[in-house]
Amino acid sequence: MLIAKTNLELHQILSLQSSNKLSIGFVPTMGALHQGHLNLVKRSQKENDFTVVSIFINPKQFNNSEDFKKYPIKTQEDVKLLESINCNLLYLPNYEEIYPQNGQNIAIDLEELNQVFEGPQRPGHFEGVVSVVYRLFELINPDKAYFGLKDFQQCKVIYKLKETYFKNIELVFCETTREKNGLAMSSRNSRLSKKGKILASQIFKALLDAKSKFMETNTQSHLKKISEELSLNNIEVEYFELANVKTLKPAKVWQKPNENVILTAVKIENVRLIDNIIF
Ligand code: AMP
Repeated sequence: MLIAKTNLELHQILSLQSSNKLSIGFVPTMGALHQGHLNLVKRSQKENDFTVVSIFINPKQFNNSEDFKKYPIKTQEDVKLLESINCNLLYLPNYEEIYPQNGQNIAIDLEELNQVFEGPQRPGHFEGVVSVVYRLFELINPDKAYFGLKDFQQCKVIYKLKETYFKNIELVFCETTREKNGLAMSSRNSRLSKKGKILASQIFKALLDAKSKFMETNTQSHLKKISEELSLNNIEVEYFELANVKTLKPAKVWQKPNENVILTAVKIENVRLIDNIIF
């Protein structure tokens, strides 16, 4: 696997691929890789000639400095994992490569997308996501880019970025990879104790339960009860709500099949976790 730490190295490697007319698939990450990330990489490998993974812990998307400080860094293990699945190129930039001093600050109007769920809970988060993904797309200019549906609202934000600036890039949104007990894989899970991980498996169970109750009664009366049950188990619920899958507008009743999503954010042992279920 090639590793590029500077934009010059990145550019040299990528120019060679484009001059050979090889298609480029791109998977942006913040490292501490797990099977969820690797599934994105494998999907890219299936669909492209050359796959680039980036690892960059983007300070601009952390609204909480403690969360940033505690974000796991496992670069050596990440390199081994990516080598084991024959990834072509790892882009491992430092802060200055991504945010040069004279760089322009890109902003798009996220409108209502930034006013629900993660938007108000994490002020500045999506602006930070937009800044880093804009820069990465600009530097890598892939044919296809791969994102996880676990970060459902983020997928919507990236789609808006693509529609505004990068119409040529195809976005591929991939299913959430879960542990056997249903817990959505996340780099942050490594900060949970064994007990915390077992507790965290309640999140997906609660989502499944909420989905099936919506299908039975089509009212949201049970949502409050389910979220209260989570709270009784030392799970601090920030939100647990139904929304329209296209607009992300909060909804009261279940719409047509595949037009609904229940989104949740919780804190366990002071670790913030998000998940969702689409139905
Ligand atoms: P992160 O390193 O957390 O920024 O994630 C990098 C990419 O991997 C994002 O597109 C995430 O949505 C995606 N991702 C993270 N966890 C999972 C998972 N459990 N299943 C699928 N995709 C994931």
